[in-house]
Amino acid sequence: MFVDSHCHLSFPELYSQVDSIRAAMATAQVDRALVICTTLEEFPRVHGLALDHENFWCTAGVHPDNESVSEPDTATLVELARRPKVVAIGETGLDYYRLAGRSLDDMHWQRERFRVHIRAARAVRLPLVVHTRSASSDTLAILREEGAAVGIGGPGGVFHCFTETLEFARSALDMGFFVSFSGIVTFRNANELRDVVRFVPLDRCLIETDSPYLAPVPYRGKTNNPSLVPWVARQVAESKALPLEFVARATTHNFERLFGVPSRQEQSI
Ligand SMILES: [Zn+2]
Ligand SMILES: [Zn+2]
Repeated sequence: MFVDSHCHLSFPELYSQVDSIRAAMATAQVDRALVICTTLEEFPRVHGLALDHENFWCTAGVHPDNESVSEPDTATLVELARRPKVVAIGETGLDYYRLAGRSLDDMHWQRERFRVHIRAARAVRLPLVVHTRSASSDTLAILREEGAAVGIGGPGGVFHCFTETLEFARSALDMGFFVSFSGIVTFRNANELRDVVRFVPLDRCLIETDSPYLAPVPYRGKTNNPSLVPWVARQVAESKALPLEFVARATTHNFERLFGVPSRQEQSI
């Protein structure tokens, strides 16, 4: 059984297909999924998916790329995070990829928003789902400044859709974070990332689709959905030279540990 630790089932191209996606998940032995929130406006739909389906959970947060949306404060995030089936804060982080002519100084609002999320995660003691793109050093610096590391009593979390360097992965592990791999690990030109896959211990690895984006090979370019996460697991297994069932079992167990989701055995007692 596999778990998709990061998907956007609330996005229109997937939301209208949830029933058929759930059927495809069952066929592909994808047992559970974490539905990720990217705006406060979107939260009711994201949360509704988690409430309506026993094998979906969700997060509360505002993605760093989203401008012209409601700006979250810590109290609002804390209130949402205390609702049933909300298991993490995010996705949050920094994204300097689309500066569109702005300087890093101009992105102060993104850093403030990130800090607000970390403070909420600390208050409710829930892990962070961190997005980082073209912003490695600021991301790590803010996580450290805001006390996010597990070793100092922080909430920890996961760096999702990991595309950073091996050095960054080392820092993430040192801070007690998990590393989540997406379909990018299956792309032909992703040799450096596959080195990172080999480097990160299996007990710190998660797998995800980040659907509807980033469909793994052999579906690259198509609309992604959680039923395709086994293709990510297969690549992780191949890169680490481990049996697929080891990767399935470990990433499922890691998901349960990080997000405090009961195992299937615990659930049936
Ligand atoms: Zn992301
Ligand atoms: Zn995402």
